[in-house]
Amino acid sequence: MKPGTMMTMLGIGAALAACDCRPQDDARALSQDKELRAVMDNFTRNEVPAATPLVEKREVELIRLVSLTTQQSGALLREEVATALAQGLEPEAILEAIYQCAPYAGFPRTADAVEIARGVFKAKNAKVDENRGTVTAQSRLEAGADAQGTLFGQTFRDMAKNGKEGMPTVNYFLASNCFGDYYTRKGLDLNTRELLTMAILVNLGTEPQLKAHIGANLKIRTAEYVEQAIYNCLPYCGYPRTLNALRLLEEAAAETKADAKGSPAAKTMPGKDWSAFPVGRPNDAYARYFTGRSYLDMISREQVGIGNVTFEPGCRNNWHVHHAKKGGGQILVATAGRGYYQEWGRPARELKPGDVVNIPAGVKHWHGAAPDSWFQHLAIEVPGEGASNEWLEPVGDEEYGRLK
Ligand code: MN
Repeated sequence: MKPGTMMTMLGIGAALAACDCRPQDDARALSQDKELRAVMDNFTRNEVPAATPLVEKREVELIRLVSLTTQQSGALLREEVATALAQGLEPEAILEAIYQCAPYAGFPRTADAVEIARGVFKAKNAKVDENRGTVTAQSRLEAGADAQGTLFGQTFRDMAKNGKEGMPTVNYFLASNCFGDYYTRKGLDLNTRELLTMAILVNLGTEPQLKAHIGANLKIRTAEYVEQAIYNCLPYCGYPRTLNALRLLEEAAAETKADAKGSPAAKTMPGKDWSAFPVGRPNDAYARYFTGRSYLDMISREQVGIGNVTFEPGCRNNWHVHHAKKGGGQILVATAGRGYYQEWGRPARELKPGDVVNIPAGVKHWHGAAPDSWFQHLAIEVPGEGASNEWLEPVGDEEYGRLK
C-alpha cells in the first residue's frame, strides 16, 4: 500500500497530503511538527509512566491501544500497534483490546482500528491465532451473565436464569452481547478486560457507566492503582475527562468504603493507609492453589526472594510443603490485617501485624486471611538445596469455617 492510500484510509488525507512523498518507513505522525512531537512523547512516554509505577508496562500499552481506538486515532494508533508488538504483546492481545472497544465505542471506530492493526501485523509478519471465541449461540447468555456476576455481583446471574424471554431486552443484550460476546474471548483475561473497559469509558466520558466500571475495578484493584490507570488515559482524552474520572473514582471509593462498614467480610480492597506495603497485582499465576482472591507484590527478587502476599477475607492457600534437601523452608512476617497459619495436625495460629512464623522445610501447612478480615504477609523464601514447592488439597470450608 502506498503511504498516500494509508493516509486516506486514516482519514487525515487532506491535511497531510503534502507528506505523501515521504518514504513509508518515515511515516511517523507529526514529522513536520517536531516540537509538538517532543512535548507529546515526553508527556506520554516519560512523565505519565513515571507518575504511575503501579500499572504494569503491558497494561499501560493496552490502555494506550484502547484509548487511541476510542479516540478514532489513525497515525498514532498505527505507531502504537507497532510499539506494542515490539514490546512483546501478542497480536491476539492487541486485537482483543481493540475488540473490547466495540460494545462501548461502537463498530465503526473498532473496525477502523482493527484494519489499522491488521496492516501493521502484515507489515511486521505477525501471525494471529484466529480462534479466540469460546461461546456459542446457546451458551453466550449464561457465559456473559457469569462474567457480569463475577464483576458486578450474583444478581446478574440470577437475572439471566430464566433466559431471554424472562429478561428486559436491554439486560438480555448486555448479558449475551456486551459480556457474552466479548468478555468470554481468549487473548485477554476478565480482570484485564475490566481495566480496559474503564479506560474506554474514561475516554468516552460517559459518566454513570464509568462510575459503575470504576466500582467493578475497585473490587479487584486498589484505589491508588485505579487512579494511576486513569492517568494513563490523560494524553489521549485530555484534562476535562480525566478530571471527571478522578472525581467519580473519589465518589465510588467513598461508596464502597461505606458499604464495607455494614459487612465485615466485604471484598472491597483496603485503602491506602492499610499497610506500608502496596497490595500489588492479582496473583493469577498461583490462583489455582488458592481459595479466594490473593495479590502479589515481589518486593525482592535478588539474594533472598521476598513476596508480599495480600489475601481478601476468607482467602487462604492450599495445604502445601516447601521441600529442600538442605536448608529451605519459608518465613512469614505479618504486615497488615488478621490471618492464620496452620501446620497439619495442629491448631491454627492467629497472625497479626509483626508476628513472625518460621516454617521448616518438609512441614505441611497453609496460610491465609481470617474469614472477616483482609490479611497481608511477607513470604520470605529461605534458600536451600534442591528447593521445590508441593501444592496439595485446599483447606476445606468446614475446617476453615471453625476459625473466627
Ligand atoms: Mn508456605
